[in-house]
Formats: sequence, structure tokens, C-alpha cells
Amino acid sequence: MTRKSILGEVRQVQLAVELIGLGARLQFLEAVVTLSRERLIRLYKELKGVSPPKGLLPFSTDWYMTWLANIHSSMFYNIYRFMRDEAGEGELPALIKAYRLYTEQVESQGSEVVLDFTRAETMVRFFDSDMLQLSPCSRCGGHFVAHAHDHKHGYVCVLCRPPSRAGKARKPKLAPVRRAGLIAGGPVLDIGGAVS
Ligand SMILES: [Zn+2]
Repeated sequence: MTRKSILGEVRQVQLAVELIGLGARLQFLEAVVTLSRERLIRLYKELKGVSPPKGLLPFSTDWYMTWLANIHSSMFYNIYRFMRDEAGEGELPALIKAYRLYTEQVESQGSEVVLDFTRAETMVRFFDSDMLQLSPCSRCGGHFVAHAHDHKHGYVCVLCRPPSRAGKARKPKLAPVRRAGLIAGGPVLDIGGAVS
């Protein structure tokens, strides 16, 4: 076992605290933070007051396709892609920053956060393993989460063609989606002030 520097360990604790604050589950913490499982569990209990939930939820790509989830997922993933491609962030920092921005945008509009951290992280892995793709909407030009290898031509997004039942639920405000660069390729930089 190698001796860890105190500073390095402090950074790992800070990272774990940040991730637990965002709602990361124990399995994800164990994968990305170099602290022992016992310490992560203790940290989790101290921060949340309860033990971490056991087991991973069985997620399928279908969850991301229901209309409200699709709007939120698309918003998050567009921010994430921007962090990766334009801001040059690594995978984990991009995930953390994009998730923080997404929740800030949703909450600032008084809406409910639909995409939790684990689902966001799982979605990134679905994209990495080529199970999901971003499809451009033929009407508004926004990029939306879709099953990989779906036909791209003539795709119409959930905002342009919401299901009839969508009217009964509280309609999501579109401003954060627009500002997140989803609609008409608007620059994500509009919300750059929130990136620290
Ligand atoms: Zn559209």
C-alpha cells in the first residue's frame, strides 16, 4: 500500500463530499474516489445522517425517452457535451459541473429536478457505450437524447410534439432549456456566469 499525501487525501475527501452532496451513490463513489469503502460510508452517514442505499437501480435507456425526462436529460447532456468539447473538461469534472449547472437552472426556474445524479451519470455511460445518441430535431434544431441508431431524418423532439397528456402535468419552463443551448443551437455561454 502506497503512502498517500495528506493533501491528496483532503482532495479525495472534498471530492467525495461534493459528490455525496450531488446525490451520488456509494457504487459511483467507490469507482471514482480513492477512499476506502468504510471511510466513504462513514462520510456518507456524517453528511446525510443515514446509511447509503444498497444496490444499484436497474436503469434502462427507456427512462430517458419519456417526454419530461427527455427534456431534462437532453438539457443536461447538452451542457455535459459542451463541458467536454468546448471547455475541455475531463469526464468527472464535466459531469459534476454539468449536473450542478443543470440543477441550478431548473431550480432557478422554480421547476423540479427530474434527472437525479445517478441517472445523469448512467446516461453518460449509455452514450459512451453507444446506446444513446443526440438527434437533431427537424423543426427546432435542438439536440435531444434518443436511442442510438434511430433514424435521424424527420425526427421531431418532445418539445415540438409533446404528447397530449403533457398538457395535464405542469409544463416545464423552456427558458433554461433555451439557455442551456438546446434550442436552435443557442450558446451555452449565456449561463457561463454560473460556471465556477
Ligand atoms: Zn424540436
